[in-house]
Amino acid sequence: MPELPEAQTIASALDKAIGGKTVQGIRLLRRDFLKTGAPRDLTALAGQRIQRVFRRGKSVVIVFAARRVVLQLGMSGRVYVAAGAATAEPLPPHTHIVIACTDGAEARYANARRIASGVHVLAADELGPLARMGPDANTIGRAEFIARIRARRTPIKAALLNQSILAGVGNIYADESLFRAGIRPTRAVTAVSDADLARLHGIIGRVLAEAIAAGGSTIKGSGKYADPHGEVGGFTTAHRAYGRYGQPCQKCHAKLRRTEIGGRTTTYCPHCQK
Ligand SMILES: [Zn+2]
Repeated sequence: MPELPEAQTIASALDKAIGGKTVQGIRLLRRDFLKTGAPRDLTALAGQRIQRVFRRGKSVVIVFAARRVVLQLGMSGRVYVAAGAATAEPLPPHTHIVIACTDGAEARYANARRIASGVHVLAADELGPLARMGPDANTIGRAEFIARIRARRTPIKAALLNQSILAGVGNIYADESLFRAGIRPTRAVTAVSDADLARLHGIIGRVLAEAIAAGGSTIKGSGKYADPHGEVGGFTTAHRAYGRYGQPCQKCHAKLRRTEIGGRTTTYCPHCQK
C-alpha cells in the first residue's frame, strides 16, 4: 500500500489540485528523503509551472518544463492537498516535502517508512527510479506479460511483486488476482501454464480497473491510505482474499490460509487455488 490504483487516485487528485499552477516554493523538511538531486534543485522550482501530474507504477510524477519530481510512495506514502484555511493546519506527521502554489494550494508528501520511498528531482528527460520499472500492470499486453513472468523461476506471487518485471502490483492486488485466477501464490512460475498466465493477465487488468474506479483500497484501522482529500477507497469491501486469512472462502467456505512469500503475508484458499 499504496499500489497502482491508490497511486493513480493520488496522481489524478493532485493533477486536479495543482496541475497547471505555479509553484511559489517547495520546502524539504527531511533532507534524507531526497534521493536524487540537491535541495537547490527543489528551491529552483519556485516560479515554475506544474504542467501535469501522472502515475507510473506506484510512483507519482510531477512534470515541470525542465524537471520532473518523482514521489515514490513505497509502503506508506501519502499525499495531502490543503488550500485556504487548511494550510494553517499542522503538517501531518512524517511530512517530508511541501509544494506550495501561488494560489495558496499546497501538496504535502508524508511517509512513515523508508522502504522504496523518497523524492527524486530529475532532468526532464531523466528517468531515475522509473528506469528500473517494468511496464505498468494495467496496460501491459498479454504476450509481453507472459514473456516477462516466464523469465522468472520464483513463486508466481514473487514474480508479480517484482517491480522490474511488472510495475504497480503489490501485496493486495497480487493476492486478489491470484485468488480470482485460482492459482496458488506459492506455485512456481515454471508450473503455471501459458493459458493460466493469459487468464491471470486479464484478471489483473480487471481487478486494477475495478479498484481504480472505486478510488483504491483503504485498510481499516491502518490509516495508511486515503486520497489527497481524505476520501477513503471503496475497493476494500471487494477484497476476497487479501487480509482475510482464517475467514471462510467466498467460493467454497474453506478457511483461508496464510503463508509468507518474500517476507509478505500471503492469503489463499487451499481448496480453490491450486
Ligand atoms: Zn475456496
